Amino acid sequence: MPTEFKLYNSMTRAVEPLQPLAPPRVSLYVCGPTIYNYGHIGNFRTYVAVDLLRRALKHFGYQVDHVMQFTDVDDKTIRGSREKNLPLKEFTGIYRKAFLDDAKTLNIELPPEEKMPNATEHIPSMIALIQKLIDKKSAYVSDDGSVYFRIASFPKYGCLCHLDLSSLISGARVNQDEYEKEGVGDFVLWKKWVEPDGDVGWDSPWGKGRPGWHIECSALSMEHLGPQIDIHGGGTDLRFPHHENEIAQSESATGLTFVRDWFHVEHLLVDGQKMSKSLGNMYTVRDVLAKGYTGRELRYALLSGANYAKNLNFTWQGMDDAKTALSRIDEWRKRVRELIPAQAAPVSGAMDESPGVTTYLRALDEALAHDLNINDALGHFFSLIRETHKAIDAGRLTPLQAQHLEFAWTKLDSILGLGEATVTIPAEVQALLDQRAAARKAKDFAKSDELRKAIEALGWKVKDTAKGQELLPG
Ligand SMILES: [Zn+2]
Repeated sequence: MPTEFKLYNSMTRAVEPLQPLAPPRVSLYVCGPTIYNYGHIGNFRTYVAVDLLRRALKHFGYQVDHVMQFTDVDDKTIRGSREKNLPLKEFTGIYRKAFLDDAKTLNIELPPEEKMPNATEHIPSMIALIQKLIDKKSAYVSDDGSVYFRIASFPKYGCLCHLDLSSLISGARVNQDEYEKEGVGDFVLWKKWVEPDGDVGWDSPWGKGRPGWHIECSALSMEHLGPQIDIHGGGTDLRFPHHENEIAQSESATGLTFVRDWFHVEHLLVDGQKMSKSLGNMYTVRDVLAKGYTGRELRYALLSGANYAKNLNFTWQGMDDAKTALSRIDEWRKRVRELIPAQAAPVSGAMDESPGVTTYLRALDEALAHDLNINDALGHFFSLIRETHKAIDAGRLTPLQAQHLEFAWTKLDSILGLGEATVTIPAEVQALLDQRAAARKAKDFAKSDELRKAIEALGWKVKDTAKGQELLPG
């Protein structure tokens, strides 16, 4: 464990050493998706950055206690389920699964299932927390039947976003889950049931209703991780009002500092512009795959473009660059592995024979410990690649050194999570392959030839082997 693993804390706006409450445990709460739609690549930039953090913490010997909730009840999910005319659970279930599939495509390590709660399965803990806030006079039942948090009861309000509340009208209320800074006011904790909510509602001491979005995270983080969290992560757009409100709710209830380190992942721009529906640049992971890129390439582009605390500009050129960088790594690994004897014993311990590797491993630790400087780590790695090629060309690389290099890659990849290159077969090609297998089984060889041509027209080759059809890129 390094003495100083430093992260940018967006509360203090400084890079600070991480000081977990009970090392080696690090509690990590991350605001999960609101499951009303497919996540776009900006959302996934956040989850890839959190994944980098989680892997780096593990690399340094920390035990990460990671929780991420799914918001399956709020204004947006209710609106979406009504528009699609589906029960809320069924509607959100579609997008929960889509999120998990996309996370898999990007090789994101998620918390275990029991640490990924759906908000609707924990309503009692939200009700208990709201009751506690009412008892402490931090919240009140308003004349509209909903429960609101009283901002005036929490003088620290605005500490995360450095808000000036001098012009705030005491008692002004906001009933929506999302609002702008200009709309700051007492925010809703429990929303009284209204006609458009349909069959979405739970009984509570304040009548039938549902939790507000913000209280979900305070209740779920407390239930799963306790009153204080080492690191709280999320996209930068959640700073206000969501995280500001989480602080107010949690600290009013416990009297303790809620979060020690705020890990905010900055915006993903597309071609230098903010993503928006009107510009048509709000790509999903699926949109990127449909253009012929792999999840591995997208992951690399999201990881390597910029530090997580800076804006990242996504471009298609950047995706092509990611593809090129990955093929350089893959070619290098192939060359290195060819030098490793099949029966080689696994390497461990000192690498005195391979000074380049020793230096590289030290540089990797230093780069990661300094606010996850992955670009620095990659820069060092590409130097190592160049040195290796020179050594192989000169016939100077020994099998043991090759093993050490493979070990260096394994270390880096435990952080990068890029794995092996795989060929992704487009659904259209797979469908033709399946039809062709059926045609061959039925001994319809004319049809089988026709399908082969259709597959070739899509840029693939099909070979018939003893084990069946084998598909190769054309
Ligand atoms: Zn949250």
